[in-house]
Amino acid sequence: MIPGARLVLLGRQGAGKGTQCVRLARHYVIPHISTGDMLRMAVKEGTDFGQKAKDYMDAGELLPDDIIVGIVAERLARDDTSRRGYVLDGFPRTVGQAEALAELSADSLQPLDVVLDLEVPEDVVFQRISKRRVCTDCGTNYSVDSPPRYDWTCDTCGGQVTQREDDTEEAIRHRLDLYREQTEPLIAWYQSRDLLAAIDGLGHPDEVTRRLIRAVDLRTRPGRALNR
Ligand code: ADP
Ligand code: ZN
Repeated sequence: MIPGARLVLLGRQGAGKGTQCVRLARHYVIPHISTGDMLRMAVKEGTDFGQKAKDYMDAGELLPDDIIVGIVAERLARDDTSRRGYVLDGFPRTVGQAEALAELSADSLQPLDVVLDLEVPEDVVFQRISKRRVCTDCGTNYSVDSPPRYDWTCDTCGGQVTQREDDTEEAIRHRLDLYREQTEPLIAWYQSRDLLAAIDGLGHPDEVTRRLIRAVDLRTRPGRALNR
């Protein structure tokens, strides 16, 4: 039986959070909870809420804390997360959201194990996001440098692979500004609570995955990490 884990991944847009979260979720057998994916799903379903979310997302703005906290709280209350844990991707991204998460974790007596900060410089992520293409069905990431095998059809699910509407140059710049202003303060916030592990996000994705797993194991099962 593989023990679960409760993880948060921080990192700029384009740092590779999505890709790495999928791998961490598989490794620790925990659900991958991506607020961006959840919102894009709501947009696709065309609900009133989805329409409202789309307006924020297309403008590159953050949704208000209370709305996004409500969505995450509901998701964290489900069986799979209370049994196994989770890897959170795209949440929290403000100090207000981090405080709300801390409260939820305290209420359920399920504290975070570690917050991983995936470090990639701004100029590098800017290049990566401009080249990013995403499956509209399953969210798998591609890039113009490594497209799917057949004509922008997703290798994983056969869905259509396109550029995200919020991946225009202007929206990317705006999201990076917001990250600096709103999300970067979380690094110090978690550091002062002794929960932060900074991980170099440059290099081959497999190497980055190894670094992340090592950091998690060091926190949660030190004996095992030392034997790797
Ligand atoms: P990126 O990290 O590239 O901006 P995401 O897929 O994580 O992409 O999020 C897309 C959009 O969804 C964000 O720009 C924002 O509008 C909204 N969003 C996602 N997560 C949050 C959050 N925790 N708080 C507020 N808004 C969010
Ligand atoms: Zn797909």
